[in-house]
This record gives sequence, structure tokens and C-alpha cells, in this order.
Amino acid sequence: MNLQKRDQKMSATARVPKKFVYNFSAEETEGHAGMRDILGGKGANLAEMTSLGIAVPPGFTISTEICGAFYRDGEVLSEEVKSSVREALKKVEKAIGKSFGGRTNCLLVSVRSGARVSMPGMMDTILNLGLNDETVETLTSDSGNARFAWDSYRRFIQMYSNVVMGMNSSMLEVRLEDLKYEKGYKEDTELGVEDLKSLVKTYKKQILEATGKTFPQDPMEQLWGAISAVFKSWNVPRAITYRELHGIPGDWGTAVNVQSMVFGNLGEDSATGVAFTRNPSTGEKKFYGEFLINAQGEDVVAGIRTPHSIIKTDDSHGLSLEEEMPEPYSQLVEIYKKLETHYRDMQDIEFTIERGKLWMLQTRNGKRTAAASLKIARDMVSEGLISEEQALLRVVPSSLDQLLHPRLDPDAEKTLLAKGLPASPGGACGGIVFDSETSVAWKGQGKASILVRVETSPEDIEGMVSSEGILTSRGGMTSHAAVVARGMGKCCVAGCADVEVNYDKKTMRVNGYVLNEGDIITLDGSTGEIFLGEVRTIEPDLDDNFEYIMNLADSYRTLGVRTNADTPQDAVMARRFGAEGIGLCRTEHMFFGSDRIDHVRRMIMAGNQEERLSALQTLLPFQREDFRGLFQAMEGFPVTIRLLDPPLHEFLPHGEEEIKELASRLDLDASALSHKVKSLYEFNPMLGHRGCRLAITYPEVYQMQVRAIAEAAVSIIKEGKTLVPEIMIPLVATQAELKRLRQVVEEEVQLVQEENNTRFDFLVGTMIELPRAALTANKIAEDADFFSFGTNDLTQTCLGISRDDSGRFMGTYVSEGIFPVDPFASIDVDGVGRLVETAVQLGRETREGIKLGICGEHGGDPASIEFFQKVGLDYVSCSPFRVPIARLAAARASIQQRKVEH
Ligand code: PEP
Ligand code: MG
Repeated sequence: MNLQKRDQKMSATARVPKKFVYNFSAEETEGHAGMRDILGGKGANLAEMTSLGIAVPPGFTISTEICGAFYRDGEVLSEEVKSSVREALKKVEKAIGKSFGGRTNCLLVSVRSGARVSMPGMMDTILNLGLNDETVETLTSDSGNARFAWDSYRRFIQMYSNVVMGMNSSMLEVRLEDLKYEKGYKEDTELGVEDLKSLVKTYKKQILEATGKTFPQDPMEQLWGAISAVFKSWNVPRAITYRELHGIPGDWGTAVNVQSMVFGNLGEDSATGVAFTRNPSTGEKKFYGEFLINAQGEDVVAGIRTPHSIIKTDDSHGLSLEEEMPEPYSQLVEIYKKLETHYRDMQDIEFTIERGKLWMLQTRNGKRTAAASLKIARDMVSEGLISEEQALLRVVPSSLDQLLHPRLDPDAEKTLLAKGLPASPGGACGGIVFDSETSVAWKGQGKASILVRVETSPEDIEGMVSSEGILTSRGGMTSHAAVVARGMGKCCVAGCADVEVNYDKKTMRVNGYVLNEGDIITLDGSTGEIFLGEVRTIEPDLDDNFEYIMNLADSYRTLGVRTNADTPQDAVMARRFGAEGIGLCRTEHMFFGSDRIDHVRRMIMAGNQEERLSALQTLLPFQREDFRGLFQAMEGFPVTIRLLDPPLHEFLPHGEEEIKELASRLDLDASALSHKVKSLYEFNPMLGHRGCRLAITYPEVYQMQVRAIAEAAVSIIKEGKTLVPEIMIPLVATQAELKRLRQVVEEEVQLVQEENNTRFDFLVGTMIELPRAALTANKIAEDADFFSFGTNDLTQTCLGISRDDSGRFMGTYVSEGIFPVDPFASIDVDGVGRLVETAVQLGRETREGIKLGICGEHGGDPASIEFFQKVGLDYVSCSPFRVPIARLAAARASIQQRKVEH
């Protein structure tokens, strides 16, 4: 992948801001939660919490706008910025009563990134900044704990040399491991003061050798280096990849938060933890979190030690925070309740307890699974915290996808290998891989993988995207793997201690089994179980919360939602998901059934009209039953049936062998069949003999299909049911085409009605999928009862890009910013959208009440649905699994539209 993407990188042309730095402390707080654009999410919320009177270590935020200025100035900090930072630092020193680089009461700071939206772990962080050969002694006397001071210094050198000086972190890591080996230690905690001192010495020497630079002793020099490094980390490849995946613009930039350090590793009365105000997996209204005694924050998130539960649970190992530190625990409970009520949303919080005193380090709206987001939205409406509209705006439509897909069959036979933490729900099955590169490569080859890691880190992001599920052997529910997987809606089992991973041999040992790369396993992210081999999956059952949100969406939306379905099974499923009719039945799909494809081929091979009619006659009963099935499944809801669309060669084999085999089966002359295949060859089949053009030359094909529709309708009506079939003509460019074919349709329906002595209403309409049709929609509307926008072909023909070949270059177009998104996935508002809007206006000029829908892929895309709402379509139609997404997206679009209008 090209990682030097212009659009995703911070541009050097950003404007110069007036204010650079915003303090937050009990004495003076200059920001608030509404300022996330310039303070970043973390900075804005630190300021807000401080204003709420919550204990937050004082600090300041350098605005995101400085990130732009930093790049504009050639990646240096200007003197003006530096002087603002110096001033802000003085205020922090005053607020906390310590001095930066001082001989007594030494202030240490953390330097962290903070973008407008959270990008967990993607950018850099530096802790314990301000330590040097002198201040380490100050810290020793301040804390009365030499081991703590030297361990902090050792950690700081490791972090700083890696993030700021570009050292490979494993070089220092190796020194640490060597020392442990020499001394026979198993854990880092066994390192004594003298060990740490000697490590610091070795580190400094090694850094000088590797970088040619001495490790900076001046705390201010350290600070400038760290601030610059955090700004630079906005443009590291993994951050760019993350932004691309989440559609975050490159020019937003990151803020930098400089905050006084508090320590969770000062002994047994200190701790650090992360928590969610409600369960992020299920949404249950129960405080939920993890902590570690005598540890720094990164230890919890990085999954290096498996943390304990904050509240007492039956299956928690070790004592809970509630039991270990009751006083800070009850303060934490008070604060989380205050924060949730204040933000009116589930919060994800980070805290540190330093010698019994509780400090809040972060709060933000917590990431959650789709199931949790439904439950939380519903509960918060009933708790009076949010309105119904807010509830609908809280649930991300595309996230519903997680709920609609299969889960493991509880009754399937399974071989349980082990059980880890249920970090992100759903079922996933694939061959195990041990690194991201292999997972990405397998995805390219169409092979499903399960990414198995000891723990994941931000470098694994692409592997996590391309795998079906993630399994880690270490880390808790808030580890990197768990948080990122939940955000992606990907199945994840975390912290399975029974799994022993060997990266070198590419094996995983688990309870007596040794599995190699490629061996199949199945994960159940809802229970944390890991099974050998493939386990059968079953359809999901949608719970009450899903129903509640869907019903709420239905009461707010004005757009109809139909489905694209070609079989009664699809139609039944779509009805279950709430489809209010079929917006597109592609009848050609019915021709591919094994019991009918040969009849279609005979029809194509017919030498004259008589032979063609006879082949069509054999197809008629199949089609009639197909349509009856659809009408029945749709229980009176409208059904739009599109007459044959693709070019005929699609129904014939192309290889020599296949042609011979077919000729002998159908008792045809192989050379005649081969000749026919050649004669149907087209240079541009998508622009060739297809759609209505087929029926202009062979009207009998449409006649047969219309007869099948009409006869099926008669039989349904005779059962006492009502029905208004909608017959749709594809690929119309001119009024004359539609006029001619409308007549063919009407005559055939009339014949069937007379033969059966049964009258029924029906509509004849057209797809608008060619620019000419859109531009002459006023004329076309004279002969159309409805329009359905075929935005797949309309995008293809408006942009002149083959929908079947765009994959070769679309990735580059999107990553280079030439297209903001793939126009086949999300409507190109300025081009294709303009055609749609024009056709809507022109169509309504001629026929005021003309029914308008969309049945291209865009009908299930939330951003496109917002556009279709704006131009005033009557309905969208999409594949069955996207129906719930479309219902919710339509409700949100209607709420947004009303907001704009008022
Ligand atoms: C379209 O072109 O948008 C459409 C729905 O038709 P098809 O995808 O079958 O060409
Ligand atoms: Mg089409």
C-alpha cells in the first residue's frame, strides 16, 4: 500500500491559529468538551472534567491547529509556540506545587497525542518526562523509593529513545532480557536498584552508539523532542491506515497533551485502571473495569499483566478494587456516575490511584458492540437521559451488520480447546496465522484466517482487518486487541492463558494440542471459547433491543425501505428484517437455476422465432412459480419485477470443453453452439445488446415474462388476496424504447386478464440507469408509472468507469484522494447525484405523483440514503441483510433533515 497519501497526510497549508495552548487546572481551565476540534477529544474532556471539579492532574493542551503549523514550518516548533508552552508549564508547576527539572518536588510530565476522534494506540505517548541523572535522585528522595525512581528513569529512556530518537525498541529490550538472564530473574519486578542503575548506563551507551547522539539531560530539550515526536506520529503509516479505515481526514491533526504525572506504581497503595460505565459488550448497566496494583497505565492496556476486575464478580481472580481499596473505589463510583449523567453517554475512563489518592486521566464516549449500543440507547431513553431522536443518532447503522450475521450453533458438535475472555462477540472460523502479513496475504487469496498473537499492537491493525477473528493469549477485556476488535465489530477472544504461541515455529500449543499455521479453529467471541476445526453457524435471533430501535426508526423515517430479492427465501428473510416490499427482482437470476438454464440456452440457440417461442414456453411455468413465490412471501407488499437485463452470452459456456459437453447434453451441433457463442461476443457487453434492447429485437422474451407475472398475479388474486405487480424495463435511454415496450407489456397483461376473466391493477415503470434517461426524464415519465434509479449502471455510465473492472484502480483513486470514496459504494453526489436530482425534478414535472425509488447498491449505504432523503425519493431498496441498516439510516436522515430545516 502506498502510505504517502496526500489526502490522508497533514497538509502544510493549514492556517495559523491565534491561541496555541490551553491550560487545565483547578485554578484555570480554558477549554471545555465542546472544543474537541482544536483540543482533541482527550484534551477537551480533561478540561471538562477539571471544570466539573473532578481531580485531574493539571496540564495543558497544545491545539490541533499547531499540528498544521508544525508541518507548515518544516516539522519544527515555532518560537511563539515554545514561549506559550513555557508559560503554560509555569502554571502547571504552580498548580501542583512542583518544579520541572527541580532539585526538590520534581515535576514529571506525560506527553500524549489526542485527535478529534479517538485513534486508540495509533500515535505516540511518552511518560515520566523530565527525568535525568539529577532528577532521578530528586524523585528518589521525593518518593522515598529508589527502585521506583530508577525504574521510571529506565522506562522513560526506553520510551523516549524509541519514540523521539528513532531507536529500535528491541535493542534496549534485549539488554534488559540479558540482565535478567544473567541474574536468573523471571520478572522485571525482580530487578533491584543497582540492576536498574546499570541498565540506565548501558542504555545511554547503546543509544549513543546507535544514534550518534547522547540521551538529552535537559528536561526542556526532552519536552520539545517529545512534542515534535507526537505531532510527527500523526503521519506514521499505521495512523494513516487507521484514518483511511475510519474515514478520518488527514488535515485534522492531533493535539498534544502535556500533563503532570501521577503514579500508579508507587507501591501497594497505588494502582491504575480503565473502566466502562456500562458493559461495552452487552450494554448491561453495570460498572465494568479492570485495574492493576502497583502499575502504570500502559500495563493495563498493553495486556502485559492480566488485570483484575474493579467490582467483585464470581469468576474474577484476585481481589477486586472494591475489596482492595474501598475508599478510592467509592470515589470512583461517584465520579463515573457524575460523568455518565453529564455526558449522557456511556463513558470509557482511565484513572490512577497514587498512594491512596484517586486521579482521573481520561474520559470519553466508550466504544461498544452493536448489541451494547442498542441496549444503552434504549435504556438511556427510559432513564430520561436522552431523547428518542438522540437514541437513533447514537446507533451507527453499519454496526448493525454485526447482529445480523450467523453465530455458532449451540447444538453443533464441538471440540473445545480452551476458553479465553469474550472480548468481542460473534462467531469466526479460519486457518490460524501468526502475523498480520500472512493474514493480509490470505485475504488476497480468498482464504479465511484467525490472527493468533500473544497480544496485538497497533502494528497489527491491517492483519486484524483482514482476519475473520482475533485470538490473544494475554491481556484483558480492555487490551488493544479487545478494544480495536469491538470497534471493528470483529470477533475476538482475548487473554487465553492456555494458549502458548511460538512465533518462530509458527505453532500454537493449547491443552495438549499442537496446531500449525493453516490449521482451522473456530472462535466464539460471545463466550470466549475456542474450538478445533470448523463449527456450524446458525442465523442470529434479534433481541428486544433490536426490535425497539427498529420500531423507533420506523416511526421517525419517511423513506420506504424495500429489498432486492430474487427468491422467495431471500424475500422471507427480508420481510423478517422489515422490508416493505421488493424494489428489484432481477429475473435473470431465476434463469440460472439448474432446472431451467438449459431451456434458456435452447431459447438462445433457436434458429427462428418458432423455436424460440417453444423454448420460452417451457420456461413459462418456472417463471410463474417463481413469481407466485415472491408474491406470497411479500404478503401484499409491492413487488417490482425487472424484465431480462443481461446480454445473452452470459447464459452460454465459453470454454471449448464446456461447449462440447453442453452440445452433447442438449443434442446440439457443437460447432453451431461454438459459432453462436462467437457471434454473441461483444467488445463492450455492458453497453451492448442487453436490457430493453434485447426486447426491442426479441419481444417474445418479455412477453413470456409478463405472461408469467400476470398468470401468477391472477392465481394469487383468485385466492382472495390483493396485489399490484410493478413491471420494470431496464436500461432505457429514450422515451421511444419505453413506449414500445410498455405496449408489449400492456397487451400481454390484457390477454392474460381476458383469458382468465380477472382484472387487476399493475404498474409499468423503468429503471433510470443511463444519463440520457435521467436528462430526459420529463419525456420518459409520460410512459412510466414509476422510476427506479439503477445507480450501479448510472455510476458506470456517468463516470465512464466499468463496474466490473474498477477494482484495478479504485483503491489508488481513493487512497490518493481523487475520489473521497468508491462511487460504486457511496453515491457520487456531485455527478451521479446530480443526475438523480435532475430526473426527480423532471419526472415530477410531468407526473406529479410518480413513484420514485432506488435499487442500486447505494440503497443500503447510509451516506447515500441521506442524499436520497434530501432529493425526496419515496423508497430505497437493498439486499436483505442491509434492510435494518437502511431503516435506521433513513430515520437518521429524516431527523437530520428536520434539524437543518428548523
Ligand atoms: C443498477 O444498475 O443499479 C441495477 C440495480 O441493476 P443491475 O445491478 O442489475 O445492473
Ligand atoms: Mg443495471
